[in-house]
Amino acid sequence: MRPMRPMRPMRLRRAPRPDRPRLLHEVALIVETLEDIGVTRLSRGIFNCYLIHNAGGDPVVVDPGLPGLAGDLLPLMEEFGLGGVTTVAACATHAHSDHVGGVPALVDRIDAKVHLPERVRSFLEGAKPRTPRVRDIARIWPTSFDQPFDGHGLLDAVRGARVAGYGGPAGMRWPDALEAAFLADGDHLPGAPEWDVLATPGHTDDSMAFWHAGTRTLLSGDAVLSVGGRAWITPETVDDAASARTAERLRSLDVAHLLPGHGRPVHGDEVTARALGPLQGPRGFGSFARGLLGCLRGGRGQSAD
Ligand SMILES: [Zn+2]
Repeated sequence: MRPMRPMRPMRLRRAPRPDRPRLLHEVALIVETLEDIGVTRLSRGIFNCYLIHNAGGDPVVVDPGLPGLAGDLLPLMEEFGLGGVTTVAACATHAHSDHVGGVPALVDRIDAKVHLPERVRSFLEGAKPRTPRVRDIARIWPTSFDQPFDGHGLLDAVRGARVAGYGGPAGMRWPDALEAAFLADGDHLPGAPEWDVLATPGHTDDSMAFWHAGTRTLLSGDAVLSVGGRAWITPETVDDAASARTAERLRSLDVAHLLPGHGRPVHGDEVTARALGPLQGPRGFGSFARGLLGCLRGGRGQSAD
């Protein structure tokens, strides 16, 4: 296999809007393309979405969590020569609203065939999804260390939570007219059959990851995050035993490229085998202060300690 070329970061900044508070001016869409794999990361703050664009079939959008994503994505597709494409496959690693909240807006702009984890079928039929508690969610704040603060992304995530997905007391929201198909462990991604679907419960009951063995690339959703350049098995779980089994499965993969749901991508050898455990992420006020400072300065992070 050819050696990988490094990610090429590109920042697109929009002009400040004078009617908004200062921090909300810092709108930075991060676009990183991993050319040899054919995957591009679109990120606003801690919210990652991925476009798989050289699989031969329809482009695949993984985790379209923000309603504003369509406005970011469609011009990018033009840049990649995908301007004539009329259909995309929108696939979610799980149905937390920050991973599917952008689906309705995407469907409004382009013919997007929606694919959700099989377990979500029961949520759509009325079963209440389990979701991590607020104190568990708070444990993943270090994922924001090495990324720029993006108030626009944060507000967009709040908007998305009102239209699709779950994460709060209201349970699963989903527009009545929006049709979805379902993915199970052992399936392949629609439009990108070289990508395997792996069930990875623990963070939530419906969690899945997507694995490309040829390039050793793992799209891990929220099962594995990253902090300070290291993979980090999520401490944010609804089921610790399931999460431990998932961690064992993902550590056994020879991952060279980790593309997490939150945090920056990690490249190297045995990326998940060497991942920090759930309790090994940065802790304490000193870490918090240094991380917050780096985030507000534009995403220059710190290493895990
Ligand atoms: Zn999640």
